[in-house]
Amino acid sequence: MAALSLLPALPAASLPRTEHSWGGVEFFKDITLQKQRERERRHFLSMLAHDMKNPVLTSIGFLTRILKGKAGPLTDAQRSTLELVLEDQRKLEVLVKDFLEYSRLVNQEDKPVLAPFSMKDALDKSIGSGKAKYDEKAVQVAFDKPAGDPIIQADTIMINRVITNLLDNALKYTNRGGKITVNPVDRPDDILVQITDSGAGIANEHLPHIFDAFYRVNPKSDGSGLGLSIVKKIVEAHGGKIWVESKLGEGSTFSFTLPKQDVRVAPGERAGTVHCSTGS
Ligand code: ADP
Repeated sequence: MAALSLLPALPAASLPRTEHSWGGVEFFKDITLQKQRERERRHFLSMLAHDMKNPVLTSIGFLTRILKGKAGPLTDAQRSTLELVLEDQRKLEVLVKDFLEYSRLVNQEDKPVLAPFSMKDALDKSIGSGKAKYDEKAVQVAFDKPAGDPIIQADTIMINRVITNLLDNALKYTNRGGKITVNPVDRPDDILVQITDSGAGIANEHLPHIFDAFYRVNPKSDGSGLGLSIVKKIVEAHGGKIWVESKLGEGSTFSFTLPKQDVRVAPGERAGTVHCSTGS
């Protein structure tokens, strides 16, 4: 592998014509071609999602108007059919929007806009604004407020997306009467945030894939399967790490770090994800 990694630095003509090295050049060409195809595939998919967005939004607008009776009275049968169509269109809208957001992060079109950021405030606001949802499911949220409140450099909109997504998942996969604990820890070099739920947990076999795009433990469940991959790209774009620990039937802890100094890296350039479990 060490010899192969030098190949790009050497002009092909300077390589000795042994069976082995020519094989290496072919291998290198294959990888380049593979990367180019992957880029083209991603470009095609994001163009497709982009072109789908407006028609989906337009049809949601029309369906909403028709359901409000703006095109005349509806029979019960027409109404219930149109409601089903509208529900499907809304799912498609979430999928298209999530995919576009994911593509922009992968292609580094969306880079963090750094500004002073208080994790304590962001968590406080996010938990406060979700109170009605937690109360409806009788889920208790315990926020271990840290003594200090270090101000870091981060993109407020992006990190709020991370917090909301992890909290929404914690609520979604926790039964009525369950508990969610939010624990920010001020460490010398970074801030660690841990969100623990007493929910369904995730089996060991799924843990290595949980941050992959479109991965859902139950393929029939609602959701695009893009939420955690977006979260991972955002954390990595800030130079942080994200990982999960889970025990089936007992709950999960999602943890992420954000560095205190500005060490942004391109998404995917850093081994930012650690998967581990405490059994299933
Ligand atoms: P989705 O938008 O479909 O929920 P995510 O990327 O947010 O997709 O999550 C991927 C999968 O990870 C989900 O389908 C779910 O099975 C699992 N998952 C995420 N968070 C939790 C959690 N807190 N507890 C149990 N399973 C979870």
